[in-house]
Amino acid sequence: MAGEFDLIRWIKAQSAVDAGDVARAAQVQTGIGDDLAVLQWNCDDLLLVGVDQVLDGVHFHIDTHAPELIGRKVMNRNLSDCAAMACLPVAAVATVALPQHHPQVMQLAQQLLIGMKQAGAKYDCVIVGGDTASWAAPLVVTVSILGRSGDIAPITRAGARPGDGIYTTGPLGGSILGRHLTFEPRIALARQLAQTGAITAMIDLSDGLSRDLGHICSASGVGAIIEAEQIPIHPDACQLSDRDHMAPLDHALNDGEDYELLFTASQPVVQSGITRIGTITADRQILLRRNGQNTLLKPLGWQHIL
Ligand SMILES: [Mg+2]
Repeated sequence: MAGEFDLIRWIKAQSAVDAGDVARAAQVQTGIGDDLAVLQWNCDDLLLVGVDQVLDGVHFHIDTHAPELIGRKVMNRNLSDCAAMACLPVAAVATVALPQHHPQVMQLAQQLLIGMKQAGAKYDCVIVGGDTASWAAPLVVTVSILGRSGDIAPITRAGARPGDGIYTTGPLGGSILGRHLTFEPRIALARQLAQTGAITAMIDLSDGLSRDLGHICSASGVGAIIEAEQIPIHPDACQLSDRDHMAPLDHALNDGEDYELLFTASQPVVQSGITRIGTITADRQILLRRNGQNTLLKPLGWQHIL
C-alpha cells in the first residue's frame, strides 16, 4: 500500500475540495488533520455519543459488496442510532483496519471513506477525524458519532408504559437481499414523531423485531402483545421465503437490519407508512397473537455474541 501519510494527504485534499461541508457544519472549528478535532457546542444541547463497527464476513463480504456501500452502511448504522434517540447527528470519527493482502488497498480505503462521507453529508454529519492501519486480517471499519439533542429530549428505550401502542415505520424482513446496505436512516421522521410528545420509547430495528422489542420491554419493565396480522411484511421477506421456505412473517420478526424505527406511543399515531402492530402490557411476557391464539414471542433476531 502507498503509505498511511499518502492516505491522510488524500483525505485532507478531499476535505479541502468539500470545504462547504465544514462551512455547513458550523460547529466544526478544526476538522481532519490536527491531533484532535474541535467542535463548538451549544451549551443547551445534550451530547449523544455512540460507536458501531462492521466486520468483513459478519456485516458484509468484501468480495461481493462495493467498498462505498460498506462505508455507507457503517455510517448509516450510526445515523440510524441517532434516529432511534431522535437526535441530530453533528460529526463522526472513523477507524479503518485494512487487510494487508488486499490487491488495491489504497483504493479500498478511499472508496470506504467516500461511502462514509457521502452518507454522513446527507444528514449534515461531517467526518472530523479518524485513524487507519493495515494488518494481516479482514477489514474492520468503526465509526463513532456525536449527536445533539437540538431542543428535543432524547427518546430512550425505557419509557414504554402499559397501554402504549407499538408502531413500526416500515415493512420488515428480507433485508439481506440488499436493504441492509442501502437503507436510509429515519432521522427526520424520528424528530417529527418525537416533537409530538407522544413517543414514550424508541429503538431502530437492527437486531430484528422480536429481539429489539425485547430491548424496549426489558428497559421499560413491561411486556407486549404483538398482532401477527398487523406486522407489515416487506416484499423481500416474501421473495426470501420462496427460496428458503421460511414463512415471510418469521423473516419480518427475526431477520433484523431493517433499520426502521420501532416505537411506543401514549397517543394514537396515524400517519402514512406507520403501522400499529401491538400494545404494551404490564405483564412482562412478550406475546404474539395469531389467529386468536397467543404464543410467547421468542427473541430470535441477531445476537452480537454467540
Ligand atoms: Mg440501535
